[in-house]
Amino acid sequence: MRTRIIPLLASAGVTATLFAASAGTAHASTTALVGCGSAGKVTAKMCRLYKAASSASSKGKYHWDSVGCKHSDPLPYHPQGRACDLVYGKIGKSATGDNRADGAKMVKWLVKYHGKYSIDHVIWQGIIYSPNGNWHGHADKNCKKGSGVTVCHRDHVHVAVKP
Ligand SMILES: [Zn+2]
Repeated sequence: MRTRIIPLLASAGVTATLFAASAGTAHASTTALVGCGSAGKVTAKMCRLYKAASSASSKGKYHWDSVGCKHSDPLPYHPQGRACDLVYGKIGKSATGDNRADGAKMVKWLVKYHGKYSIDHVIWQGIIYSPNGNWHGHADKNCKKGSGVTVCHRDHVHVAVKP
């Protein structure tokens, strides 16, 4: 009897160890979310970018609305906490004047530091900045004639980081 119980316990122990190891891997995953101040819950990469972008854009030039980063979306970036929307002026209203100029400055900064902050893509004013086009910008096919202000990113800068 004794020789039978010991192997069972040993095998249970192995199972528990394997489980703990895989749980540890899940926590170390880049898709794990961290609390990041007003950005809410985002990935560690997004949080690092958020903090750097906040200090780079003399504060107050943009705001993060209540659904600024992690929110539902057909694409994976926002639901995974890998994207944030920086609103210039008011959501639903095309940015003009200083707001538009400030958004353009933010985009310039994001494009400049895309490598340092593992940025996947940036969208502003119907233009996508990504490795596709070597970060020079190309038309967003989702922004067609008659598309809304927000769909065309005329009111906010969208930025996503890699997983
Ligand atoms: Zn977005």
